[in-house]
Amino acid sequence: MIITLKKETPQQEINKIIAQLETNGFKVVDIVNDGVHILGVLGETSFLEEQNIGANHWVASVTRITAPYKKASREFHPQDTIVDVNGIKIGGKEKIVIIGGPCSVESKEQIMDIAEGVALAGAKMLRGGAYKHRTSPYAFQGLESTGIAYLVAAKQKFKLPIVSEITTIDKMEEFVANVDVIQVGARNMQNIELLKALGKINKPVLLKRGLSSTVEEWLMSAEYILAAGNSQVILCERGIRTFEKATRNTLDLSVIPLIKKMSHLPIIVDPSHATGHWELVEAMSLAAIAAGADGLLIEVHNNPQNALSDGQQSLKLKNFAALIDNGRKIARVIGRDI
Ligand code: PEP
Ligand code: MN
Repeated sequence: MIITLKKETPQQEINKIIAQLETNGFKVVDIVNDGVHILGVLGETSFLEEQNIGANHWVASVTRITAPYKKASREFHPQDTIVDVNGIKIGGKEKIVIIGGPCSVESKEQIMDIAEGVALAGAKMLRGGAYKHRTSPYAFQGLESTGIAYLVAAKQKFKLPIVSEITTIDKMEEFVANVDVIQVGARNMQNIELLKALGKINKPVLLKRGLSSTVEEWLMSAEYILAAGNSQVILCERGIRTFEKATRNTLDLSVIPLIKKMSHLPIIVDPSHATGHWELVEAMSLAAIAAGADGLLIEVHNNPQNALSDGQQSLKLKNFAALIDNGRKIARVIGRDI
């Protein structure tokens, strides 16, 4: 951390600041440039609060030079984390895992039909929302426990592990008992109590990037889960809010190589919520594979026109199957496979 003091700072104040840092176990290097004192603070600075240091009247600026997250960082954990979901491995250098399914579970017939189709197409896991965080309170809110039960039935019949979103801590027991990958939605990325609770369980967590979250905020949310003891975290880029309205969100593909550099955690891409239009989903999926994504989370529906949520961004089964075939070709070009 670098603390730059104001030029007019009296020497006794400089000494006080240095002494306080040293008392707290930091080593301080004091560099004077043109009468300005620049303090290089060495040690475990992730526990230092920039705001508190910046509150000192004599401090001009505080700059962090090491990441505030530790367990999520590549530095702390150089080798790739591979999350094992009932034998399906997400992360590493080999397979790219495709997860397909509807935005919402709507009926037993619907989820069974889609599960069969995504399995035949080559998906390795089934997604489906049972508790839905909708923008409008009047929109379909999900089948809740019944939806989870239908997903479990589809999992048993088609041998596909299931991914579903948890929205509140009080459903933790139900999710731990039934769901293979617990999704944290974009709107809950900074629900700190939920993250802490997910840190205490032994199940993979799929952590979506918040609607307007920076990469650092996202990794800090992952850090909450890791710090509480659960190392099975999968990051999911699902587009961020920008000025552009032609797509639902703006897919930030650059975060794939960036996250690979900053963190050891696997990263997958959700091109459905990122674009909001089914016609754009395949192109963005192929691009995500080329950019190094470890998997894709794609909305698929057997009847998109009548879907109870996100029909406009849902692929029909035949388009989903074509996407996987084309994705496999790209994956092989970069030495991976689906
Ligand atoms: C979803 O996956 O259905 C969903 C609601 O996604 P997000 O949290 O990314 O909006
Ligand atoms: Mn959706």
